[in-house]
Amino acid sequence: MKNGIHPEYKEATVTCACGNIFKTGSVKEDLKVEICSECHPFFTGRQKFTDTGGRIDKFNKKYKR
Ligand SMILES: [Zn+2]
Repeated sequence: MKNGIHPEYKEATVTCACGNIFKTGSVKEDLKVEICSECHPFFTGRQKFTDTGGRIDKFNKKYKR
């Protein structure tokens, strides 16, 4: 067996912006992500980004000076 060809593959702790923490395999020990399977609209079925955008738009129109 030859050593040093592949980077060392170890368990990484991934911290998501939503607060979810999970483990995955990676060459890095600690990872930070902005979206994960727990908060991604594709997985949750929530359309939170389009929803929020629509509400802000209405708010701005209502209170525009
Ligand atoms: Zn997340």
